[in-house]
Order: sequence, then structure tokens, then C-alpha cells
Amino acid sequence: MLAAAFALWMQTQSAPPEFAREDLGIAVRRLPEGYRLRKPDEDSDVVFEISDEAGKATGSAVHLAGWPRARGRADAWEGAVRKDRATRSLRLVKEEVLAPALGEALRREWVLETAEGSRCILGLFVSRGDRTLRLLLQAPQDAWDRVRDPLVRLTDAVEMHHVWRCAACGAAAMGGTASCPQCAASLYPRDDRIRDFSRKFEIQIVLDPSRSLPIGDVSGEAPARRDAEAFCPMLAREVKKYPDDFFRRVDVGRILLLRDIRFKNPPPGKVLAFAMYHPRFAMVIDVTEKQKFATIHHEFFHFLDFVPDYSTKDGDWVALNEKGFRYDSTLWAESLAESKVKGFISQYARAGEAEDKAELFACLMMDQKRARVRAQGDAVLARKLARLKEIVREFCPKMDDEHWRSLDR
Ligand SMILES: [Zn+2]
Ligand SMILES: [Zn+2]
Repeated sequence: MLAAAFALWMQTQSAPPEFAREDLGIAVRRLPEGYRLRKPDEDSDVVFEISDEAGKATGSAVHLAGWPRARGRADAWEGAVRKDRATRSLRLVKEEVLAPALGEALRREWVLETAEGSRCILGLFVSRGDRTLRLLLQAPQDAWDRVRDPLVRLTDAVEMHHVWRCAACGAAAMGGTASCPQCAASLYPRDDRIRDFSRKFEIQIVLDPSRSLPIGDVSGEAPARRDAEAFCPMLAREVKKYPDDFFRRVDVGRILLLRDIRFKNPPPGKVLAFAMYHPRFAMVIDVTEKQKFATIHHEFFHFLDFVPDYSTKDGDWVALNEKGFRYDSTLWAESLAESKVKGFISQYARAGEAEDKAELFACLMMDQKRARVRAQGDAVLARKLARLKEIVREFCPKMDDEHWRSLDR
């Protein structure tokens, strides 16, 4: 019986969704019986509209790009409805923080009173990277008991994935898909270890980024195949240093392997890597550079910093420095070499608080002993090291003292 149930579950998991927008990574796995879904005709932010046969329950899903993410979007929607002149009252009945395998999701239920009567509203806000889907479902209060269950099931069936791009034909695919829906090319790298990582966290490793560039303001050259292939097992080794929860929360969608990274407005000096929050939480990395592994950890830290609101400002961190110290963003091109200035792990760390933290984090991930030795007799650096570990643990509780000890062994 158990085996049969498992087989059935496997089937439902692999069954194609009843609705999908590959370009947005949005899918509805299964519609509740008696519900109809419509795609809007014109090019709009509405992804689909839905209603039941009786026409009592209606709803629509809207795709929103940029910040804020799920919770901020839910608050913003509530605020707008409360301000609306037609609204007499909006009462929050229930809130559930959902725990999707990846990303962030929230479900809220309200009762809305207007001159026309009372309606119940069920809202789902689900975010991946910098994109959020807002699904609002409603019905008159007297019909709510009948429609609520199927509507809740509908919110459970909504999936939000990262968007991958096929290296062969450029078509968009939903993150985690094994092969391109357009040309059937494999979307996973060949290396087993990194393929598992890629599938598990929906992080696409792009060995040939030619069809994905430019991405935002960033461009570059495709690396030699040999360099890209050689990078994969080493990337697999580095990502093994993190607990799964870290990647569930950082929400990176793609890692593009490049050489000669270029910006539209070039900064002074060479760019080794870049963490992009828009579009689509992607990382670009020059795989021909010597410091590439420290750089990966550095960039992963930036993604940690982006969640949940993309503010990397941190007054508490700045205050850990000696009185009167100012970060200097013109040090952008400074080398990653050891800093001779007390309180900083590298020269580049003096460029800003986000870089300071990312540099120290990279050092911790690569060589804790070095971080410890440097912190001896350097009170500022010692304070920063302690605070950094706190920040990381707040973000990912499994990255605690024991975690650091286990990496040290
Ligand atoms: Zn393709
Ligand atoms: Zn950085």
C-alpha cells in the first residue's frame, strides 16, 4: 500500500502542470475540480484569471518584478485596499507563513466590507529571487464555506520557479527542468556532483553563457569549454561547505561561467565576479581567475545580504570600526590582497560595509585559521568576526559554532 501510494505520488510529481508560463517560471500543478483558468489576451502583468463554474469565486494572479518580496507585497496590497474609498473595513482573519522548498511564501485571509457587502479574500504571495506572484481569490462571504477548500488547494498547487535559459537555443525554461522544452538540450552540467546541486536548489550552472548575455548591464566572453568543465567539480566541493538551508534562502537562480567580465559603465579595474539581484538573482564569475573560490563565497554572501529587501546598508557594522573611519567606495578596484590596515581582512574590504562583510565571510569559508590569526591583537577585526558569525547564524541557524568547527577539521 505504501509502495503504491509512493508510486502515485511520483506520478503526480512528474505529471505536467495544468498551466505553465515557462518565461516566468510560474506553474499551477493541478486545478481544483470545477474551476476554469484563463490567460488574459493582451500583454499584461496578469498571469491568469480563474473562476468557478457558478461564478461565485473569482481571482487573478499578477507577476511583480523587483522589491519588496512576499511579505512586503502583502502589506502593500493591504495598505492600498485600506486606503481605497470603497473600503469600509478590511479585517485580517489568518496568516500562514508557508515553507516552500525554495523561496518565500505567505498566505493571508481577509474579510472585506464595502457598500456592496462583505467578501472573503484569500491571498497567496510567493517570491523567487526578486520576483513575486500575487494571487488573490475571493467570493461573497455567504459562499465562502463552499469555495474556501478548493481555493486553498489552488494556492497549494501554485509553483514559482527560477527562470533558466537554454544554452543551445536561448529558450526560457522553469528552474529545475532537466531539458529544454524547446530543443531538448540538457540544462544540467555534465558533472554529477554539481548536477545534483543544480537540480536541488534550482541554480542553473551556465557553462556557455553566450545566449544569456548580456544579463542586466553585464557582459563577457564564454570561457574555454575546458575551463568551464574544470570549474564544476571545484564548485561542487565549495558548495558542500554550506548546509542546504543556506541555498534555500539565498535564492540564486543562475551562475554564469565567464571570462573577461564587462560592464556597460565599466568600473576601474578588473571584475572577478558579480552578484546581481536584478534581473533574476544571477551570479557571474570569471573562471579563469586564481581567486575564483574565495570569490564565490564572497558573492554568496552578497545574496545573503540582498534577502529580504536588497538593502545592504548596515549602520551597526559600520560602528564596529574605529571612530571616524569612513568606507571609501573609490577603492572599488583595490586588490583582494591582505590589508595592512587594521580592522580589515583585505584592501577591498575598505570599499564599503557590504564588501567588508563579504571579504571576511570568504576568508572564513576558505581559511578560518587565517581569520583567527589576523583577529588576534586586532580588536576591530575580532569584533567583526564575532558579528559576522552572528549575522550568518541569524540568516541560517545551521551555520552555528559547530558548523564552523566542522569546517575547520
Ligand atoms: Zn533549447
Ligand atoms: Zn562584493
